[in-house]
Amino acid sequence: MIPFNKPARTGHEDAFVFDAMNSSAMSGNNKYTQLCEKWFEEKLGCKRAMLVTSCTHALEMAAILLNIQNGDEVIVPSYTFVSSANAFVLRGAKVVFAEIDPQTLNIDVELLESLITSKTKAIVPVHYAGVSCDMHRLMDVAKKYNIKVVEDAAQCIGSNYEGKPVGVHGHIATFSFHETKNITAGGEGGMLVINDPDLVDRAEILREKGTNRRQFSEGKVDKYTWVDVGSSYLLGELSAAYLYSQLLDFQQIKDERLASWNKYFALLSVIELSGHIQLPTIPVDCEHNGHIFHIRVKDVSCRDSLIKYLYSKGVVSVFHYVPLHSSPMGRNAGICHSKMQRTTNESQRLLRLPMFFGLKNEEIDVITHHVFDYFESQNNRLLAHC
Ligand SMILES: *Cc1c(COP(=O)(O)O)cnc(C)c1O
Repeated sequence: MIPFNKPARTGHEDAFVFDAMNSSAMSGNNKYTQLCEKWFEEKLGCKRAMLVTSCTHALEMAAILLNIQNGDEVIVPSYTFVSSANAFVLRGAKVVFAEIDPQTLNIDVELLESLITSKTKAIVPVHYAGVSCDMHRLMDVAKKYNIKVVEDAAQCIGSNYEGKPVGVHGHIATFSFHETKNITAGGEGGMLVINDPDLVDRAEILREKGTNRRQFSEGKVDKYTWVDVGSSYLLGELSAAYLYSQLLDFQQIKDERLASWNKYFALLSVIELSGHIQLPTIPVDCEHNGHIFHIRVKDVSCRDSLIKYLYSKGVVSVFHYVPLHSSPMGRNAGICHSKMQRTTNESQRLLRLPMFFGLKNEEIDVITHHVFDYFESQNNRLLAHC
C-alpha cells in the first residue's frame, strides 16, 4: 500500500532527541525550545514565536489573549478543522461561518463585510493547503472595523504571501507540528506567533500557567507568582529537539514536497484537460509549501468511488473537512447567514492524494496512472457518471 501520510523523518532527529534526553532539563523553554524559537523569529521576521503543545492550544491562547467572551462573534470559515472554531467557542463566543472562495477554498473576502456586526471580535482566516488567503484585502476590512485577526496557519510553515512568510500579516498566527504537517515535533506540537507587540508579555504568562515565571527567570521580578489566567502550554524539550532537527533540514523537506506536488500537477494536467478533474489554483501572490495535493471531481459519488478504486489498487487517498456548519456542534455554536452551498459542494468533490516527505517519483507515477485508468474506464462505460 502507498499510505496517505508518513511523519517527516530525515534520520538526523535521533542525535538531537538523545541530546535532549541526556540533558538535565527536559521541561519546556530550555535549549531546544529556545533554538527553535530563535530560528522561527529570524525566518518569519515576527515579534515573538512561542513553541506550544499544539496548534489547537495556540488558538486557545489567541482567544484568551483577545479577551473573547460570552456573546462575542468570531468569523471562521466552515471549511476548516474543528480547532479553528472550538478555541473561540470555549470562551463563550458564537462562530459566524464564512463561505469559501471556490478557487482556493480559503475564506471568501468578498463576503466578509456582510458578516461583521457590532459583536464581531476576531476574524480567523485559515490558509488551506499551505496557500495564503487574500490577506491584503482581509486586513483592510479588519482595520476598517478595528477587528483582530488570528491566522490559522497550521498548514503553512514555509509558505509566502506577497513575498513575506505566511503568519506575519495578522495580529496573531498559529502553526501546527502535528505528524500530518510538513515538519513535526515528533507527533504533536504547535507554535503561537505574535505580531502585535502589545500581546507578547501576556502570552508568556498564559503559557506559564498564569505565572510570571519568565520575567522571574530573566531577573525582571524578584518573585515568581500567579498573575493571570493560564495553562500548561509549554512544549517539552524532546519534542522541541525533534523539531529543531527538522528545521536544520527544512529546505530539503520543502524542496522535495514541492517537487512531488509539481510532478502530480504536471502528470494530472492531461486528465484536467479532459474535464474529469480540477487541479488546485495557486494565486500569483502566493508561494505554497506543497502541504496537500488535492483534486476535485464531479460530485460526492464520483469522489467516493475514486477513493474506493484507488484503495483497491493499493493507494490510500482521503477526503477532507466535513463543513463545520453541518456538524452537530457547529449547528449549536455557529451562525450561518447563507446556505453555504459552495462550502458544501467543494468539500464533497475534493480528495487528497498521498503526500509526504519521502514519497517516491515512481509512486507518483503509479498513483497518477491509477487515476488515469479510473477515468478511462469511466469513459468507456455508457452511463459514466464522473
Ligand atoms: C492541523 C490543523 C489544526 C490543528 O493542529 P494541532 O497541532 O493538531 O492542534 C488546526 N487548524 C488547521 C487548519 C489544521 O490543519
